[in-house]
Amino acid sequence: MIEFQDVSMVYSNGTVALNGVNLKIEDGEFVFIVGRSGAGKTTLTKLLMREEKVTSGTIRVDNFRLDKMPKRKVPHLRRTMGVVFQDFRLFPTKTVFENVAFAMRVAGEKRSNIEKRVPHFLNLVELSEKSNCFPEELSGGERQRVAFARAIANNPKIVIADEPTGNVDPEMSKDLFKLLLSINNLGKTVIVITHDMNLVEQYKKRTITIHDGQVVSDKNGGVAYEA
Ligand code: ADP
Repeated sequence: MIEFQDVSMVYSNGTVALNGVNLKIEDGEFVFIVGRSGAGKTTLTKLLMREEKVTSGTIRVDNFRLDKMPKRKVPHLRRTMGVVFQDFRLFPTKTVFENVAFAMRVAGEKRSNIEKRVPHFLNLVELSEKSNCFPEELSGGERQRVAFARAIANNPKIVIADEPTGNVDPEMSKDLFKLLLSINNLGKTVIVITHDMNLVEQYKKRTITIHDGQVVSDKNGGVAYEA
């Protein structure tokens, strides 16, 4: 469960990025968070990962209280979520296999498990043949699928996709959506952050619209509020 209670975030230069945000996302939901550029979507993601701290208000992710969490606990929080970043954030000098394995190693996974599970995840994203390739040898869609495999490698409860259509063509983003829907069917919470209203219309899921740092609408069935 994710809960924002009266969350505000003011950057040090005085910019109010979020202003009194309340929202609750239950386990196993598929949610779009939409809004124009500058609305506060990235800030919301950063708060959720505790890359930034709230100025006021409360954020809960399961039993974690993010606004009160000491830094040493942040890795525990991050283990509950897998993030597919818009720019993929793959290591350019590591192979596809190593990119996925690295995330598991950092999380303290045993070597024997890594050897067994990485091929499983690469098979899931249909990249078994590219296991020994480096990111620069892959297409945009393939890189995104590596990022997805890495995001789910540690069996997180929550998967967040940041602007999944940003750096790939529509056909490739459809592939990612298939993967996101299939892991949502396994009971994981999926949060898709986007400014792409077409996506929202197409998939008909709960849609939370942010405008000027505030939640202006929260509706089921792919209806976004046009500010
Ligand atoms: P979005 O992801 O929806 O485009 P952001 O969360 O990035 O929106 O930004 C929300 C607001 O906060 C914008 O006005 C933006 O200029 C501002 N902002 C974002 N990051 C910073 C920062 N590090 N310092 C100051 N202002 C920021």
